[in-house]
Amino acid sequence: MAKQQKRLEPPTSPKEFGFFVDGNSVPAGSREIFERYSPAHELPVSRIPKCTKADVDSAVSSARQAFEDRRWSGLSGHDRSAVLLKTADLIRQNQDEIALWETLENGKPISQARAEVGGCVGMFEYASGLARILHGDSFNNLGDNIFGLVTREPVGVVGLITPWNFPFLILCERVPYILASGCTLVVKPSEMTSVTTLLLAKILCEAGLPDGVINVVTGSGRTVGQAMTEHLDIDMLSFTGSTEVGRSCVEAAGRSNFKKLGLELGGKNPQIVFADADLEDATDGVAFGAAFNTGQCCVSGSRLIVEKSVAAEFTEMVKAKFTKVSVGDPLDENTQVGAITTAAQTQTILAYITKGQEEGARLICGGTQLDLGKGQYIAPTLFSDVTSDMAIARDEIFGPVLTVQSFETVEEAIAIANDTVYGLAASVWSKNIDKALTVMRRVKAGRFWINTTLSGGPELPLGGFKQSGWGREAGMMGVEEYTQVKSTHLELGKRNLWIT
Ligand code: NAP
Repeated sequence: MAKQQKRLEPPTSPKEFGFFVDGNSVPAGSREIFERYSPAHELPVSRIPKCTKADVDSAVSSARQAFEDRRWSGLSGHDRSAVLLKTADLIRQNQDEIALWETLENGKPISQARAEVGGCVGMFEYASGLARILHGDSFNNLGDNIFGLVTREPVGVVGLITPWNFPFLILCERVPYILASGCTLVVKPSEMTSVTTLLLAKILCEAGLPDGVINVVTGSGRTVGQAMTEHLDIDMLSFTGSTEVGRSCVEAAGRSNFKKLGLELGGKNPQIVFADADLEDATDGVAFGAAFNTGQCCVSGSRLIVEKSVAAEFTEMVKAKFTKVSVGDPLDENTQVGAITTAAQTQTILAYITKGQEEGARLICGGTQLDLGKGQYIAPTLFSDVTSDMAIARDEIFGPVLTVQSFETVEEAIAIANDTVYGLAASVWSKNIDKALTVMRRVKAGRFWINTTLSGGPELPLGGFKQSGWGREAGMMGVEEYTQVKSTHLELGKRNLWIT
């Protein structure tokens, strides 16, 4: 029988947090404070310092010192692995507290938050093994007098900027891999959702991570984030967020020190459904892919592309699912879709819904803000009669809005799927392996699902094609990404003299 969970509650007054430098929590002092309200409960829950550029400098200098004296990169893979494994254990022990803060600051359902934190335990466990597996290459085929070595070195000081939609999950898809490589880091969470990043820094230090290896600066993207993108002493920046800010990271890297960049950006992800799919499974998957995390999901399957012969029937089936989804208080264990994270995002989603109707799409269900007494909620929304030129089909809405388009041939399905500047993720639903694999090969996306959607784990790398980003996080590639490659030629025996 499922374990009965005790209902968690918001704090009676907002909790104060400091930022985190060189193993210490630094109180706000005279700095301005950002007070975060729970988007579901309309209560202030956390108070976070707004760090300054000088704070970014001190965090970077702490990470630099920790990198250069080799207190972390100089350890064996075995010793780094032990810290990551211990961290996994501590995250497991603190699962409820971390999940509660995710729910309070982001608005996501508590059961979902708990599952995400469980997934993060797996990320640390997996990366702990990679700390020991990371290796280079050798060339023993260069002739008797030459030996070639390819070694990997940590890049150095990494800046990590994360968004508000999966504050802890996205953090944990990166931090253990960065640490496995031997780098040190400075993290900036979204101002909306800083608490769980601060909790992770504390947990890592408790697990034995040396002081200064992880530092967290809190505050706004424009001040703290931008200072990081321009910083001359950050060797690599891993940015997850909008394509627009991603572009400014590229420009800032070019203006400053050509720091290496990892970019995980937006998506407008297709879900292609063939008439030969298990339509019951496909309906459930499509509804989940679009409404999960209120659609505030970079890999959200926000474009349904369905075979014409079943389009009308399938649209009705998705509508039935959408109207059954339980939207409400994210602290209720039965809630499936919680609150929209920010007031600005609520307005953006509603504006797109209005625009869709103005452009001639047909609203099938949802489309309205739900009045649940308090909090900001939007019902899962479905539009049919959508064409590829409409804003609702082109732009990443980042809300629970699904558009329906139909196709008659495999080629047409692929063309509609690829008709986007993005290339983050895609799903196909079909019981015909030829069709499913043809679509997988031809649709330009970094993540692909066949007869499922939004599944994942630490093993497979994450990242996008086209304007969805550069580089890969997680998996072995996620560790290698944070290394530089050095090629060494070693001559044996007597040199063949050039000057005699
Ligand atoms: P965002 O506005 O781009 O913000 C992302 C992060 O960048 C936040 O920490 C933000 O700080 C910071 N930031 C804002 N302006 C900045 C600047 N000028 N310089 C440096 N940093 C800056 O994105 P968001 O609204 O949080 O998240 C939604 C977007 O992220 C969507 O486009 C979504 O697709 C994308 N996303 C992609 C992935 C992926 O893996 N591909 C995953 C999740 C989300 P503040 O919030 O404190 O201002």
